Amino acid sequence: MDDITRDDAKQRIHDVGLRATAPRVAVLRLLSTSKKPLSHTEVVEAIGTENWDQATLYRNLLKLVEFGLARIASKVNGVSRYEARGEDDDLHLHPHFSCRICGAVECLPKAKLAGPIDRRWGQSLNTAEMQLIGDCPDCLAAQTKGKDSAPKQRVRKR
Ligand SMILES: [Zn+2]
Ligand SMILES: [Zn+2]
Repeated sequence: MDDITRDDAKQRIHDVGLRATAPRVAVLRLLSTSKKPLSHTEVVEAIGTENWDQATLYRNLLKLVEFGLARIASKVNGVSRYEARGEDDDLHLHPHFSCRICGAVECLPKAKLAGPIDRRWGQSLNTAEMQLIGDCPDCLAAQTKGKDSAPKQRVRKR
C-alpha cells in the first residue's frame, strides 16, 4: 500500500458514495500507509483521541469496511485487524503471519498463492483470510540465541 494524500483519500471515499468526513479520511490514510494490518486499538493509538473519541474512530473503521475501502485482514485471538484496499487491487490478497509467541501480525505481500485462480473463486478469495501462524523472525532469533541446536530441532516444552 502506498502513501496517499488527503485528497486521494477524500476522492476514494466520495467514489463509493460516502461523505468524506475528517475522521474517515484520517482512518483511511492511516490504513493506507500502514505496512501491517491495524487493530481498532492501534488505530486509536496512532490517531489519538484529541479530535475524535474511540467510538467515532471505530464506527468509521467499520464504515470503510462496509463500503469496501478496507477489509478485515486478520482475526487472531478475537482481535480484528484492518487494512486498506486499493482501487486496482481487488485481489489484494496476501497472507498475514501471526506470531504465536509475541502476537505480532505482519503482512507478507510477496508471498502469493501459486497458480491461476478462476473468477468464481477469485471473488471468494477476496473475502478470505490467509493466516499463517508460527514464530516470527524476532522470536526465533531470541529463542535460538545461545543454543547449540538448530532451530528446527528445537522441542517445545510445556
Ligand atoms: Zn514474535
Ligand atoms: Zn495485509
